[in-house]
Amino acid sequence: MINMKPLQMVDLVGQYHKIRDEINLAIQQVLDSAAFINGAPVRQFAENLSRYLNVKHVIPCGNGTDALQIALMALDLKPGDEVIVPAFSYIASAEAAALLGLVPVFVDVDENTFNLDVNQLEAALSPKTKAIIPVHLFGQSCDMETVMAFAKKQELFVLEDNAQAIGSDFRFSSGICRKTGTIGHIGCLSFFPSKNLGAFGDGGAMLTNDDALAEKLRMIANHGQAKKYYHSLIGCNSRLDTLQAAILDVKLKHLDEYIAARQAAAERYFDLLKEVPEVILPNVEERSKHVFHQFTLQVPKEKRDALKQALQDAGVPSMIYYPVPLHRQQAFAGQCRISGELAVSEKLSETVLSLPMHTELTEEMQQRICNKIKEFMCK
Ligand SMILES: *Cc1c(COP(=O)(O)O)cnc(C)c1O
Repeated sequence: MINMKPLQMVDLVGQYHKIRDEINLAIQQVLDSAAFINGAPVRQFAENLSRYLNVKHVIPCGNGTDALQIALMALDLKPGDEVIVPAFSYIASAEAAALLGLVPVFVDVDENTFNLDVNQLEAALSPKTKAIIPVHLFGQSCDMETVMAFAKKQELFVLEDNAQAIGSDFRFSSGICRKTGTIGHIGCLSFFPSKNLGAFGDGGAMLTNDDALAEKLRMIANHGQAKKYYHSLIGCNSRLDTLQAAILDVKLKHLDEYIAARQAAAERYFDLLKEVPEVILPNVEERSKHVFHQFTLQVPKEKRDALKQALQDAGVPSMIYYPVPLHRQQAFAGQCRISGELAVSEKLSETVLSLPMHTELTEEMQQRICNKIKEFMCK
């Protein structure tokens, strides 16, 4: 046991140490300029990100939740208008809708992909439906072909919550492949430290190919002004600060390596866990590149919490993303509409377990993790 590194869900220190000089130099340059707000690195990072994602506009903002809120504000919806969101997800997309007086309509997810079940979209429609927020959960794209075709037919906006899937993509049946976040009308990113492209604090961005929407998003994020002290819209104050932009610009150059490291770790998990009874491994879709923000197992609900405890007792961290489906959250009581049974969302909240997943994970660490899982599941 001596000299073995403790296991962690994410290892941001290890990742930083590998690019320490590059990062420290970028930070030092910001300190020397003192241009902490809207300094040159903000624009430079936005340009480099727009090239990486192949999207026309990148509008940086304060965090991923702000990105979703500002995106919804840009659509000119009315209080009471409905926004379709998955019931098994992080709260931010539904929360942003509710905060603006819109009604989140919870739709079930697919048991294999954890993403919006596109077969249930039709049944979720009402005359008030105005937008859909597909969430590319755990690092893999929703079926964007079906979402986009449905949205076009029903004249709905599509906002992609791409907080967990930067660098992922989706291949349409035409053969065209687009990066997630650049397919809908607006895509939203989070640079929360543990995300696949993480800052050293909060950060976010909105993506769009639409010039008019880009202009509006930029204004809303900046107090509704295009010209200083002339406010044409009610907006907010949401900025990516220069230090974070400078750090992100360095890390963006490494994003493809980071994704490759996550995919290699996922391959090792697939191999190490392939014959463990009652453990369902994540599904990798053919049409989307999985960037493994999380590696999420499904285990029988009678065993899930005991497995988590046994792992914890052995020094193996794991997390339940997410323990309560959104339609069961007290915050939405009387402030949402539930479409259908949501049986899959309910079930997943009792069966999912996410394992350590990060760029510094080694085979030896994964053997320790998987041995404990096997020990528990086989006894
Ligand atoms: C992290 C996350 C967000 C919110 O991002 P913040 O930057 O923390 O506000 C939104 N949606 C999903 C799916 C996320 O994982």
